[in-house]
Amino acid sequence: MGGMRRGPTGPGHRRGRAAVLAWLLASSGAAYAIGCGLESDRLPVVARGRYVEIATLRDEPICGGTARYFDRFIESGMALLGEVPPDRRFVRFEWLMPPAEQLSVTGVGRTRHVPGGSLITSDDSLVHEHELAHAIHGAALPSTNGFLQEGFAILLDSKRIYGDMVWPEGESIDRVISEVPFSYDDYPLAWFLVSQIVRDHGFDGLARFWRAVEPGASAAEVREAYQATFGRSIDALVEPIEFEDPVLGHYEEVRHPCNFSLCLAEPEALVDGAWEASGPTDCEDDPDAVGPDRRWYLPEFGDVWRQQVLSTGDAAYFDISASANVAMELTSCSLDCGYVGNGSSEFGFDAEAFWLGADRSFRVEVRASLEDLPTQDPGTLHVEAVSPY
Ligand SMILES: [Zn+2]
Repeated sequence: MGGMRRGPTGPGHRRGRAAVLAWLLASSGAAYAIGCGLESDRLPVVARGRYVEIATLRDEPICGGTARYFDRFIESGMALLGEVPPDRRFVRFEWLMPPAEQLSVTGVGRTRHVPGGSLITSDDSLVHEHELAHAIHGAALPSTNGFLQEGFAILLDSKRIYGDMVWPEGESIDRVISEVPFSYDDYPLAWFLVSQIVRDHGFDGLARFWRAVEPGASAAEVREAYQATFGRSIDALVEPIEFEDPVLGHYEEVRHPCNFSLCLAEPEALVDGAWEASGPTDCEDDPDAVGPDRRWYLPEFGDVWRQQVLSTGDAAYFDISASANVAMELTSCSLDCGYVGNGSSEFGFDAEAFWLGADRSFRVEVRASLEDLPTQDPGTLHVEAVSPY
């Protein structure tokens, strides 16, 4: 578990160039756990976890639970692939200055696999699950074709910007699976394909197939690898799923990409039909606070949060209420391929009852605005079961 360390100046102070240089000099004797491939001295490290270090020149606090959140994300993502992370800091996250103007819809994040680990740069999001997912497969799996790498990164990113879709009529699967370099325009198709692989074969199946696809493999080679791994044609991934139902008879279901999030806290059950979660009390001094989130498309609901995981147990409908200054994001901890919204949900709290479903786990983020922190009176979220069905 990693503590937060402040840079040369605390929050609210300007980090002038002189101060940073002085700090770099002062810390030049410090040994970084990461190899020299990670360009360790470029930016000062402001937070450290077990597997990550976060470096930035930004004049912003890094909330106290952020590095640990990265650690848990990495641990959980590696576990999906049947691996454990190396027990050292192998991911360096460089949070760059914000872009002068918004040029990209995702913000510019990039992951480079370098000797000893991964170097992530981001000029937008601090909590950039997509790029962390690239660091995960970089440690767990060999390099492969773009559709697998991008599809995996999008699937693991609960804050993805892509919404529901179906495989476009006439779209060539061969073009997508062999594309080098992988085009940004095809990211949703990569997500679609990887979703279906995980849906049909699990994450372990994805890992087996991944290992069978050499980087730069042609469409024919990818097809062959899929056939050899799973004993069927890769075309099945874009064809409807067929069901035989004792009541409904034979029917088909068109495939949709899947929603998924890694749940990074212990699931909590309702007690006597109720559950309450509290938002952050502070940024830097709250060991459970994550952020600040700086995605430009973030809804207004607060840039600092605490993540909790709710298990619904045998109830399915819930009353959800929140005190002022709290918003929540609810995403499913298991693969959910029915209908995908925008990846994050914003709720009004005036509905009669929300259906969440029985025996499911949800990632719940109780958020606050950085400018309102610290606070003695964090917002709370109150969830109450109203009926079993
Ligand atoms: Zn990517």
